[in-house]
Amino acid sequence: MKRRQFLKIGTGMLFTVASIPLIARIAMADRNKRDSDQVGRVVMSEQEWQEKLTTGQFDVLRKEGTEAPFSSELNDEKRDGTFHCAGCDQAVFTSRMKFDSGTGWPSFFDSLDGAFETKIDFKLIYPRTEYHCARCGGHHGHIFKDGPEPTGKRWCNNGLALTFVPA
Ligand SMILES: [Zn+2]
Repeated sequence: MKRRQFLKIGTGMLFTVASIPLIARIAMADRNKRDSDQVGRVVMSEQEWQEKLTTGQFDVLRKEGTEAPFSSELNDEKRDGTFHCAGCDQAVFTSRMKFDSGTGWPSFFDSLDGAFETKIDFKLIYPRTEYHCARCGGHHGHIFKDGPEPTGKRWCNNGLALTFVPA
């Protein structure tokens, strides 16, 4: 066996395999298997994402950019169907969760179970709840507390992060 062997993990991080105890290596392999079994996580390098996505999609999904308000055709999408993550095609909202917020971004009062994970973001100084796709990590938008019943929440989503699949 070579003294230094490298295992390339999807994000481009390099680990020296020989420096990791065997038990830990087995645990890592098990965990990777479990993650992909449960939610089928999509892990791609920045370059792979750039090749897969349009410039606008890449800016939003991978760089947490925000599209200009009223720029998305999905603002006016009122048909029955499902909204999917533009990064990995996971279903994230149904058309029944959508409402017209007047903000210029597609807005939803709820999301499909397990579709998103959240974190607190201080980009505008005050804290906001950022949410991203649980499967590919792609940024979608922020959650505000001024939505309609029954949740009182407004999931303010970049249209570029979504695709729409009519029922
Ligand atoms: Zn995704």
